[in-house]
Amino acid sequence: MSLQYYSTRNKQEKVSASRAIINGLAGDGGLYVPESVPKLEISLGSLPGLTYQETAMVVMRLLLTDFTKEELSYCISHAYDSKFDAPEIVPVHVTSDASYLELYHGSTIAFKDMALSILPYLMTTAAKKNHEEKEIVILTATSGDTGKAALAGFADVPGTRIMVFYPKDGVSAIQELQMVTQAGDNTCVIGIRGNFDDAQTGVKKLFSDPELKEELAERGFRFSSANSINIGRLVPQIVYYVYAYGRLLKNGALKEGDPMNVVVPTGNFGNILAAWYSKQMGLPVGKLICASNENKVLFDFFETGIYDRKRPFHVTSSPSMDILISSNLERLIFESCGKDDEKTAAFMKSLSENGNYAIDDAMKDFLKDFVGGCADEAETSREIRRVFRDEQYVLDPHTAVASSVYRHYRERTADDTPAVIASTASPYKFARSVMSAIDEKYAEGEDFALIDALHEVSGMPVPEAVESLKKAPVRHKQVIGKEEMRDAVLRFLER
Ligand SMILES: *Cc1c(COP(=O)(O)O)cnc(C)c1O
Repeated sequence: MSLQYYSTRNKQEKVSASRAIINGLAGDGGLYVPESVPKLEISLGSLPGLTYQETAMVVMRLLLTDFTKEELSYCISHAYDSKFDAPEIVPVHVTSDASYLELYHGSTIAFKDMALSILPYLMTTAAKKNHEEKEIVILTATSGDTGKAALAGFADVPGTRIMVFYPKDGVSAIQELQMVTQAGDNTCVIGIRGNFDDAQTGVKKLFSDPELKEELAERGFRFSSANSINIGRLVPQIVYYVYAYGRLLKNGALKEGDPMNVVVPTGNFGNILAAWYSKQMGLPVGKLICASNENKVLFDFFETGIYDRKRPFHVTSSPSMDILISSNLERLIFESCGKDDEKTAAFMKSLSENGNYAIDDAMKDFLKDFVGGCADEAETSREIRRVFRDEQYVLDPHTAVASSVYRHYRERTADDTPAVIASTASPYKFARSVMSAIDEKYAEGEDFALIDALHEVSGMPVPEAVESLKKAPVRHKQVIGKEEMRDAVLRFLER
């Protein structure tokens, strides 16, 4: 039987996995979720013997059932190859009190590569299977990392174009440089005067604009999304939690069946939701510790049951978590209210119209495995300094938020269940914040000098993704207001 996906806002809208990947968002603005979550079919004890690619096959074939084994094998082997600068794809770094799951060894040195290096293969395979003849136009809003990872994945992929909107003043210098130097005739990168939520809301509006959709169709195009709402991103992200469990069994930190806590620096709620799905598939995950920066809307949600985006927006040193509307939470809301599509739609309507919603006690109870935590800017930089001093290990600011939250969680609860901390970016991507946390004398200085300094203090090799930026020409210079996004799309498609 093939597994179907339906919309969180209307369960009547059912599609295959491949169709859900092409569509991105459901027609009613809801997110696709699997009708039921399949259980892992192999024993936990066999996980340590699997490579990353083999683990990906074990997990993905259960969720993407309308792909053949050959098709999946093609996608997996082309995605997880020498683009990654670590042969194990996801190395685990063990310190005295936690294991850091290094998800940043792909071509753009952030965890987004884990999903976005496979998404173009999944999407073009899906298009072929569904006899989709229109050219696919990927529209993406980015808080910094998705944009580059999606560009790298889709650049020059036949039958696709990709357009990325980023908040002009909301990303790091390296992140911006990575995007505006992107090569590829089918790519377009535009800065928005506004924050990430403005960019994301703008993109969602374009997706649900029926006239635009029609106009595109006439010209032979259709939109799709590389944002983390696409199940083609969610499914590959489940893989590394299963893989991590195998690594911890192998190094003796866990015995078969023991629980493993996970700690995830969270923005759009995609990464931690993947961990939750891994638990539904039978992986012994204990607590899901959701770490926020000063934009702590999720922390407050798990504390109070009230989601309230009406609050000041903070620009922090962990820009990929500067988000007040965590889109993927909708999937968990749907599950927690007994898969009630009408109720979910009502919550989301309230969020868009009133800026908030409140869940009931039964839903709160459903979410009891989740623990919220937050770290402000001072705590984040203190954590970078502490881990560097005590463990000779350098964290990027996003990972440091998670690491700080985890340390406070341990102190508060004495829960010593082995924990995996999702390490979501290379410190080289945020050299300025990292170096000034390590020593204030680095607060000034030119970006590439700070990169050299980071190399000197850490001894970590400078990734090719950073090295190559030094001489890459800037190719994308457009900056527009958020109300001009629609016109920008039409202009791009005329090229
Ligand atoms: C995207 C991102 C996050 C947040 O992940 P979500 O899946 O959006 O919660 C955290 N850290 C880094 C470095 C990221 O790029």
